[in-house]
Amino acid sequence: MANSKFEYVKDFERPDYLLPNTWVVVRIDGKGFTKLCAKYGFEKPNDKRALDLMNAAAKAVMADLTDIVVSYGVSDEYSFVFHKTCTLYDRRESKLVSTVVSTFSAYYVYLWSTYFPDMPLAPPLPSFDGRAVCYPSVQNMRDYMSWRQADCHINNLYNTTFWTLVQQGKMGATEAERYLKGTVSKEKHEILYSQFHINYNNEPEIFKKGSVVFRDYELVEPGFDNVAEKIDDLAEPVNQSKTQAENDKKRRAKARIVVEHLDVIKDDFWDRRPWLLS
Ligand code: ATP
Ligand code: ATP
Ligand code: MG
Ligand code: MG
Ligand code: MG
Ligand code: MG
Ligand code: MG
Repeated sequence: MANSKFEYVKDFERPDYLLPNTWVVVRIDGKGFTKLCAKYGFEKPNDKRALDLMNAAAKAVMADLTDIVVSYGVSDEYSFVFHKTCTLYDRRESKLVSTVVSTFSAYYVYLWSTYFPDMPLAPPLPSFDGRAVCYPSVQNMRDYMSWRQADCHINNLYNTTFWTLVQQGKMGATEAERYLKGTVSKEKHEILYSQFHINYNNEPEIFKKGSVVFRDYELVEPGFDNVAEKIDDLAEPVNQSKTQAENDKKRRAKARIVVEHLDVIKDDFWDRRPWLLS
């Protein structure tokens, strides 16, 4: 191949391979969504249509990128977890992050009218930033997921109380903020219950827990061997030319992608779905 005299500019590029054998989390977050919420009149504190749209875009990203094993979304953010053995783009950070961000943004805009049929998008259009972080152990990666879900819980309890004070208690924003300053969880529950007859525990799960997206296979009953997976392995036709990795990839591509609002902090979610981390 004849090289042009310009080709030396390629040497200015820096390698950005992510650490091998680590769980790569790509988190995207909506740019200026505080403004976007106001512009399109999102219901406060939680607009269900907007959350459903985020979830639909995340599902589409997971269908496109089969190396993602699980993702978690809350508010205007989504975290996508790539399997530690992932070799997509040779694990180049900028390639992975930019592909997730642009795929997500494209689907978000594409699907917008399904969730907001009466509100056509107009510039400035929704966009997202993204970053990647490598977690060397399953424990670190699970702690990351727990961190995001704990954040969802804390923010949602605060926002639910704040907006109830404003919308039903007729408080001003500054007054409500001052009223809640320094209150602990229990006191927020108490304000909601005693003043507004709202039992926080009965709030929709999608608001309290956020959304977790994953490929759905047979659930494993706690305390039993993973019989379903063993039967499945035996049923796979013997094909020497196909590697296990190729078979896994095919199975992943075929599996149904589901959105649930489950606790990802406790062991149960992970124990019952061993394929997520295997
Ligand atoms: P940045 O560009 O720095 O991320 P931002 O305005 O997007 O700025 P965030 O910290 O990401 O700031 O906050 C997102 C805002 O959007 C929060 O105020 C959150 O309540 C709001 N928001 C996101 N999704 C929804 C939703 N489904 N319903 C109501 N409000 C939402
Ligand atoms: P990768 O995901 O690795 O980038 P790719 O298929 O996008 O894979 P590129 O090296 O980016 O590979 O090449 C882009 C291809 O798209 C080339 O074959 C190029 O000729 C073609 N292409 C791009 N824009 C046009 C266009 N406007 N008209 C015709 N062909 C185009
Ligand atoms: Mg941000
Ligand atoms: Mg944001
Ligand atoms: Mg955010
Ligand atoms: Mg190209
Ligand atoms: Mg290309």
